[in-house]
Amino acid sequence: MSNVRELIRDKKRIVVKIGSSSLQHKETGDMDYIRLEKLVRELSDIRNQGKDVILVTSGAIAAGKKAVGITEIKSEVQSQAMAVKQACSAIGQARLMMTYSKLFAEYNQIAAQILMTKNTIVDNLNRYNAHNTFTELLNMGVIPVVNENDTVATYEIEIGDNDTLSAIVAALVDADLLILLSDIDGLYTDDPHKNPDARFIDEVEELTPELMNMGKASTGSGVGTGGMSTKLIAAKIATSAGADMVIANSEDIGVLHRILDGKKIGTIFRANKNEDFDLPNFVENLHKNS
Ligand code: GLU
Repeated sequence: MSNVRELIRDKKRIVVKIGSSSLQHKETGDMDYIRLEKLVRELSDIRNQGKDVILVTSGAIAAGKKAVGITEIKSEVQSQAMAVKQACSAIGQARLMMTYSKLFAEYNQIAAQILMTKNTIVDNLNRYNAHNTFTELLNMGVIPVVNENDTVATYEIEIGDNDTLSAIVAALVDADLLILLSDIDGLYTDDPHKNPDARFIDEVEELTPELMNMGKASTGSGVGTGGMSTKLIAAKIATSAGADMVIANSEDIGVLHRILDGKKIGTIFRANKNEDFDLPNFVENLHKNS
């Protein structure tokens, strides 16, 4: 067995992704402030250890829908449904960011908002600017809070899910660790909700084609867009770019410091830096790769 877990203690630049289902109460769809507060406290503490921290957060569309009392986005006309979703994300993103800024301020941290689409990576000038902005914010000791720019993202230019987005961010900023907080413990040999014989995998040394096929498209929660297949795509991006990736259950947000203490939690995908990995090209072909 490798000491890959122990080496996590030395990680310097960490991207943490949390999904919509981890940020709201299942019963009501309202924000789970206790969990949000714990997340902010954990991230602030990692920052206080002198590490760079980036948060990739979902929840904008869900918060916006909640704010204007929409439970389901239904429309005969596709473009209208898209406009409602985009409007909800505009409302919800502001609310989400307001909450994060307030909570981070309580721990004496400064948060900054970065919203991205596929174009941020594919377009050379945009990518260059985004890279510089992230680098400068991290130099300033600020915690960038990232989401997809859902207010303008349509199918052609969307990344589409925040698992993939967080791995793209990790690759863009040369992070050495990506942690995906999800509603599942990690990677199983099959869907554990359906197959009681599904076995847990705690370490993935190499992303083989068989493994890539193992992802299932559902999380079981009905909220958010990330299933296991998006997590495996994220693993492909992050590990090719030279970062380890961990999937862990967000049920207890305290897993964050335990993972960073080198404890065996969740599934770890080991970095496998591929010098030929071309991020803009991968992102350009994203929907074709998935
Ligand atoms: N960007 C979307 C939001 O903030 C969520 C995407 C995802 O859950 O993967 O609502």
